[in-house]
Amino acid sequence: MKLATKIIHAGMEPDPSTGAIMTPIYQTSTYVQSAPGQNKGYEYARSQNPTRKALEEAFAVLENAKFGLSFSSGVAATDAVIKLLNPGDEVIASNDMYGGSYRLFSKVFERFGIKFHYVNMQDVNNLTNYINANTKLIWVETPTNPLMNITDIEAVAAIAKQHKALLCVDNTFASPYLQTPLDLGADIVMHSATKYLGGHSDVIHGCLMLNDQELRDQLYFLQKTCGAVPGPQDCFLVLRGIKTLHVRMERHCENGEKVAYFLRNHPKVEKVYWCGFDDHPGFAVAKKQMRGFGGMMSFTLKDESVDNVTRVLSSTKVFALAESLGGIESLINHPATMTHASIPREERIKNGLPDSLIRLSVGIEDADDLMEDLDQAIG
Ligand SMILES: *Cc1c(COP(=O)(O)O)cnc(C)c1O
Repeated sequence: MKLATKIIHAGMEPDPSTGAIMTPIYQTSTYVQSAPGQNKGYEYARSQNPTRKALEEAFAVLENAKFGLSFSSGVAATDAVIKLLNPGDEVIASNDMYGGSYRLFSKVFERFGIKFHYVNMQDVNNLTNYINANTKLIWVETPTNPLMNITDIEAVAAIAKQHKALLCVDNTFASPYLQTPLDLGADIVMHSATKYLGGHSDVIHGCLMLNDQELRDQLYFLQKTCGAVPGPQDCFLVLRGIKTLHVRMERHCENGEKVAYFLRNHPKVEKVYWCGFDDHPGFAVAKKQMRGFGGMMSFTLKDESVDNVTRVLSSTKVFALAESLGGIESLINHPATMTHASIPREERIKNGLPDSLIRLSVGIEDADDLMEDLDQAIG
């Protein structure tokens, strides 16, 4: 079956009690048992919920995975993966990644004795300087947020296998429509389903997809034991969002390309970071492992003064100034003071993220309106 058909039918079973085509929102905390220990597979809603189950099956289909697990947020899903580890274990993570992942690693899990190395993974050879017998997990984000750097997933998977470390890929930016890391050798895929999977800026949600039964059992244990589970209403919203992922992503890609070239040709724009340009340093790898380049990009202005950058950020009318991404509506964001403010300035600069960088999540509106809006804002 082709992806567009699978996406719409993933996890869909008519409701057994009524035949409802959409899985109902099972707003319940517990399930009545016919005799002690005799139940219909559902005991208590932290452990199992039918709406969540339908969504988890859909998640698995999207990433060509055997299993999907659903969490109350993307960071809760990330938290579960790190909890597979023990004190003394080491993690190698991308140096340019989502600020909230960095904060979780550096401010919470370091206190529990897990060591993190933040490495530039545009060149996978950099990994070998940090890998040792304690390395248990490699954490990759590609394309990265907000610089759109690309990491070769297949090459990192080979290194991870050789050293018996797990590879987890944060696939939020690409979405499963554009990239399926398990097919490239990753062990776990993580998504902030808040973004492209939900797609409508109306829910916070996270998920993990994977193939290994034992790993799935460990992560399911963490999901129910630590309790970062989503409510059924949120599961329903994400399930509904997923059904249009393919049509939304096609338009995000189309609009993304138009806006990227528009900015690149704009006389007042200095540099555009978008992985679909053929002179982007990661273009060859992106082309190999992605089916399209999406609608995420960043840019800098020739006039990098705080006043000018602030003026542009405050002047758009269609692009809303807000954190987050991947929704149907276009957003503009200032990483240094918004999404990436939790990363110390010194670290940001070292990793190539200037204070003047502006990030765009190009939505699915009419591309002409988006370009006109940016043009009037840039002035
Ligand atoms: C938003 C985001 C997260 C965190 O997800 P939440 O749903 O906000 O908890 C993780 N990684 C990336 C790349 C993100 O954009």
